[in-house]
Amino acid sequence: MNVMREEDIVTGGSMSVEEATDRAARLMDQYGHLQGVSLIEPMVHEEFNGRITMTSSFGTEAAALLALVAEVDRDLPVIFLDTRKLFGETHTYREKLVDHLGLTNIKIMRPDEEKLEAEDPNGMLFASDVAKCCYLRKVEPLQRALEGYDAWLTGRKRFHGGERDALPVIEPAGSRIKINPLAGYKREDIEDIFEHRALPRHPLEAEGFLSIGCMPCTERVDPNTTDVRAGRWAGQDKTECGIHYII
Ligand code: SF4
Repeated sequence: MNVMREEDIVTGGSMSVEEATDRAARLMDQYGHLQGVSLIEPMVHEEFNGRITMTSSFGTEAAALLALVAEVDRDLPVIFLDTRKLFGETHTYREKLVDHLGLTNIKIMRPDEEKLEAEDPNGMLFASDVAKCCYLRKVEPLQRALEGYDAWLTGRKRFHGGERDALPVIEPAGSRIKINPLAGYKREDIEDIFEHRALPRHPLEAEGFLSIGCMPCTERVDPNTTDVRAGRWAGQDKTECGIHYII
C-alpha cells in the first residue's frame, strides 16, 4: 500500500463556485440517470481524469463503494480521515480491505498536531464541543486533502435518511463537485455487493454497530433499526460530522 504524505498532495483547484455549479447541472443532465460503476467510470476516466478522489470511513458499508471504485481504477486516491479517535478495528479493517481490493493509493489524513495541542490538549473536546472536535479532526484535514481535486466520490445513500433523503447523484459543493454513485441504493443493494464480491465485513458489525465513526461518538444499535446512523452522536442534535458541508 502506498500511503501518500501530505507534501505529495497536488494543490490548487481549477473551478470557481459558479463554474462548479454550472458544471454539476450539466453533468446531472448527462449522467444523472446513472449510478454505481456506470457513473464512476465516466467521472474517473472522462470528466475528471486525475482531478477526482474519494473519501472513505472504512466503516460497515464502505467496502461497497470501494469495491466498485476498484473495478474502475485501483489507483484512484482514497482519502481516509484518521481522527485519532477511531476504533482499532477500523484500522485493521482498512488494511484488510485495501489488500483485498488491491487499492494502491490511500491518503491517510490526520489532524494538525499544533491545533490539536492548542484546542484539545486532553483529547476530551468531543465531550464539550462536538462541532469543534469534528472540525479539528475531520473537516480541516479533509479540506487539506481535497486541495488539487475538482471532484470527490462519496458513499452516501438516501436510505440513511435525515439530510440524505433527497441526495442527488451529482451535486455542486462550493468550488468542487460531489458524486454520490450509491445515492439511490437500498440497504439490500449494499448487501448484494458484499455477497456477490465476498467482501470482508467490519469486525464491529457483528457486535451491533451499524454505522461506525469515532469511538466516543458511536454506539451499538438495534440490528433491525431502519435508522442506520442511529448510533452516531446518539442523543445529540447532530447527524453529520460536517465534512459534507465543505465548500
Ligand atoms: S465524531 Fe466525535 S470524536 Fe470524532 S471528531 Fe467528531 S466529535 Fe470528535
